[in-house]
This record gives sequence, C-alpha cells and structure tokens, in this order.
Amino acid sequence: MQRDKCGELRREAAGRKVVLAGWVHRVRDLGGITFVDLRDASGIVQLVLRNAAHLSREDVIRIAGTVRLREARNPSLPTGDIEVEAEEVEVLSRAKPLPLSVAEEGLPSEETRLRYRYLDLRRPQMQRNLRLRHRACMAIRTYLDREGFVEVETPMLTRSTPEGARDFLVPSRLARGTFYALPQSPQLFKQILVTSGIERYFQIVRCFRDEDLRADRQPEFTQLDLEMAFLEDPEELFPLLEGLASYVFRETIGVEIALPLPRLPYAEAIAHYGSDKPDLRFGMEIADVSSLFAAGPLRLFAEVVAGGGAVRALPVPGGAGRSRGELAKLEEAAQGHGLPGLAWVKLGEAVTSSFGKHVSAETLSAIAAQTGAHRGDLVLLAAGRPEVASTALGDLRLRLAAELSLIPQDRWALAWIVDFPLFKEGEGRLESEHHPFTSPRDEDLPFLARDPSKVRAKCYDLVVNGIELASGSIRIHRRELQEQIFRILGIGEEEAERRFGFFLRALEYGAPPHGGIAFGLDRWVMMMAGEDSIREVIAFPKTTTGACPLTDAPAPVDEGQLRELGLRLEP
Ligand code: ASP
Repeated sequence: MQRDKCGELRREAAGRKVVLAGWVHRVRDLGGITFVDLRDASGIVQLVLRNAAHLSREDVIRIAGTVRLREARNPSLPTGDIEVEAEEVEVLSRAKPLPLSVAEEGLPSEETRLRYRYLDLRRPQMQRNLRLRHRACMAIRTYLDREGFVEVETPMLTRSTPEGARDFLVPSRLARGTFYALPQSPQLFKQILVTSGIERYFQIVRCFRDEDLRADRQPEFTQLDLEMAFLEDPEELFPLLEGLASYVFRETIGVEIALPLPRLPYAEAIAHYGSDKPDLRFGMEIADVSSLFAAGPLRLFAEVVAGGGAVRALPVPGGAGRSRGELAKLEEAAQGHGLPGLAWVKLGEAVTSSFGKHVSAETLSAIAAQTGAHRGDLVLLAAGRPEVASTALGDLRLRLAAELSLIPQDRWALAWIVDFPLFKEGEGRLESEHHPFTSPRDEDLPFLARDPSKVRAKCYDLVVNGIELASGSIRIHRRELQEQIFRILGIGEEEAERRFGFFLRALEYGAPPHGGIAFGLDRWVMMMAGEDSIREVIAFPKTTTGACPLTDAPAPVDEGQLRELGLRLEP
C-alpha cells in the first residue's frame, strides 16, 4: 500500500491527504484529544487524534489523515512545522509494556538491551549507528570498485589460519572425526586469489577468533580485507590505502584527512610514545635523556645505561604542583610495568627533584630542555630496559593526558607504523609478530640465518587516535623463503606440509609478489560513530562472555545431533 514517510513531511504538504504507518513513539492523552509522535524509518511526525483507541508506546498503527500547519511549531523536529490530523486509525500490532524505552534517555543493563535487541535497535542512536555502518560499507565498495578491485567470497568452513587466536571448530558429519575451522581471516585464500589472477581482491568479511573477550573484541567480527598483486614495497600500497581511508572518512562523517599520512617506524613509536599504536592527537613525547646520566651523577642510573638500558623522560604540562601522594600513585602505575620506581623533576617557582642534591641544576635544566618542558611542568623519569621504561611512561602519557583533557576530541590523527620486527619472543621460541606469511625486508634477509630477532618486516599498521585500525604486509611469494620462515618458527617440514601444503604448492605455479591489509571494520565504524564499544555498531553482538541473550546461544544440542557427528560429551 502506498504510504508517505513520517519524517519527510514539511510545510509544503499542508492540506494534503496522507497515509502513514509506524510505531507509536510517544502518546499524550489530553482527554478528548490525543497527540501521538509517530515514528518510521524516516523520522517522527506529530499526529492529532480525536476519539482515539487507547494507544501505547511502540504499538504499530496505520493512519489516514490531513497535514496541517501547527499553531506552535516545534523547532527540534524537522517536521515541527506541521502535524497530521488523523481521520482513520488502524492498530496493526500491539506492544506490551516495554522492558526498555525507545523514546527516553537512560538504558537498562546490556543484558536487557541485547535480549530485547529489536527494541534497542529502534532507538535513534542505534538506527543512526547501523545506517552509518551501511554508509561506510557503501563508500568502501564504491572506492574499491573504481580502483578495479573485485569482491570475492572465501569459505567460512575451512582450515585453521594462524592469526594468533584459538579456532572455532565445526565437526564434520560426513567425515567423522574431522573438523572445519571458521576462518580467523581469509589470509591464505586472498593470497591464493591474487595468485589466481584476481590482481585486486577485497571482501567485507566475517572473521572468527576464540579469545577471551574485552570491550573491543567480539568472537565474530568484520574485516575489510584486501590484497593486491605486483607489490614489493609497502610504499607502493600506501597511496591507494590512504585514498580509501580518506574517502571513507569523508563520505561517512564528512571529515577531511590530510594526506599523505605520516610514517613512524615501530622503534620510534615505542621510544617516543611507549606504544606501537600511539595516540598522535597530542604531544607529550617521551625523550631519551640517557646521555645525561651515562657518566654519573647517579650510580643507579649510570649502571642502567651502562647495561644497555635507558633513562626516558615524560613531560607533564602544568604538573609541577603535584603532591607527593599523587606522585606516589604515578609511581605505583610504573611499578606495574616492572620498573623499580619513578624519578621526577618539578619546574616550579624553584626547580626541585626526587634526586635531591645528587643531580646538578645544569642536569635538571638539560632534562627540561630535552623534554621541551616549561616552567610549571613536571618531568617523570624512568630508568630500565628501553622498551619497559618507554612503555611505562607511554601508559602514564595516555592517562595523564586524558586526566588533563589534553586530547583534542575533534581531531583525527592517522599514521602508518612501519618496520615492525618480523619475530617476537614466544614461549621458548620465536613467534611471528604479525603472521608467518609476512615478508622480511630485503636488506635484513642476511640476518634470517644469523640473528632473526634483527629482521624487520615489510609490515604496517594504520593507527588512528591510538587505536589500531588496520594491519597488513607485503607477503612472501617464494616457497623456499616461506619454508625458511616456518623452520625459524619451529614448524617442521611435515607440519608445514600438513597445515599449509596446499598453500606452499600454490606458490610453485607462478605466484606474483603481492601484499595487502585488513581493516577492523567494527572499530572503524565505532570511531566514526563516536562510540566506545564495537557492540554499539554491531546489530547482534555477543556479551563479554560470548553469549547472545537474544537467542540464548551458545546452547546445548540434542543427543541425536551429537551421535550423527560421532561426538560424546564428557560428563
Ligand atoms: N590477515 C591479517 C589479519 O587479519 C591482515 C593482513 O595481513 O592482511 O590481521
């Protein structure tokens, strides 16, 4: 049936006959005359009902009526100039008393929101979030299509793909005792696709990782996954990815991102910000002041420096007035990172420090100069292993900046973090920093045999406001090198053949050099929507215990289903 859209009626419609259908958003019964805010996907309009059937919030009704100008306009509604005098009212569906309010602020527990998600999603904010997500996906598809990318679906029932998490397993009925794994990412399929002549692949794809959940994690989440053939250097990929990112920001929320984006080597990110996903919206850079302490004056610090450690310093704007108690709290946080303590310099009326008389006034002013600290500021110093000292100060940097409101909320600071190490120390052996298919940097290849910890990767992360938005790499496209990496990771020939034989074979039939990236789509949309949990931008997310209160998944299954699969539960 032809119907008009509630949210689109304006002055010009006055006098027109309309048919509207939607949900009863609010009701005000003034005895004899009832005002109803009627809501459909397009927005809200006020209805005037005389001798109305009793209506409750969220009832679904259809009305026929006439648009007329309002006596008192409501400037907060786009339809606030008019109202609709309802002549016929038909109740299509009744709503019981609501466990959560669609129209009012104030929310019940998340459990209740998720159990009654169909009500929760009717709230304007959730409607806005889902539409924003749709707009972002449209922008992604438009941009990539114009650039010659092809969206290809890859299997959900597949083999394990190593991305560092536990797999979700699906037992096979036809081949009893065997299991599919749900993809942690389409990594190997996308590499095989570019090898198959799809030179530019992308997919907006669900991925599954069985991890303990945190606020920004879901067991199933969505990636924008892409891969391109004939790339050997990250710089060949960055212009396209930057174009994509800026297009999506512009089309989705109207934000302009200045290009090209800065590149920050991993080692510098750690040294200056204590993080591989630095928040670059504000300064407070960590400085290395080791040289001031190398030759004395403080034995403890000199020993740290002599032993390969570092003294790092964090300026805290306006912090000179901090009390001993406050400083003790900061020190406690640093101790949580395994540092013995924190030293400090206060640039107050007089310059004071935790060093007492042991450190000269010249050294104190040199510390101030190297950190860029001014009168009124505080400088915190940490001595220890370089990454530990920086990471501890990096945490304080974020904490203090938030506390001091130094983080501009309207800024978007994007940067590439590059030159990650290829490997990290695992339990008794090396592990991939990213995943085992990442290419080493050409100039570091000689270290592979001698000292793998020195090898840097052709790997890159895109960080936005301190959050990792995307991560990718140039891949290995030669079997021998891939096998060498497996060996370093402790994956023997037999295991490599069993787990990745299909992929190693694909590398033997003409695999072009290639590389790609995956964006965390949920996170991206979350940031653009100004939310702080990805659950706010996923229609049907799981709770932090991995449950879906709407469907009560995960749930037990029938004995019979288990028998068919050849499975028996342990008591
Ligand atoms: N497969 C990787 C991931 O999910 C992304 C990539 O390397 O393209 O993190």
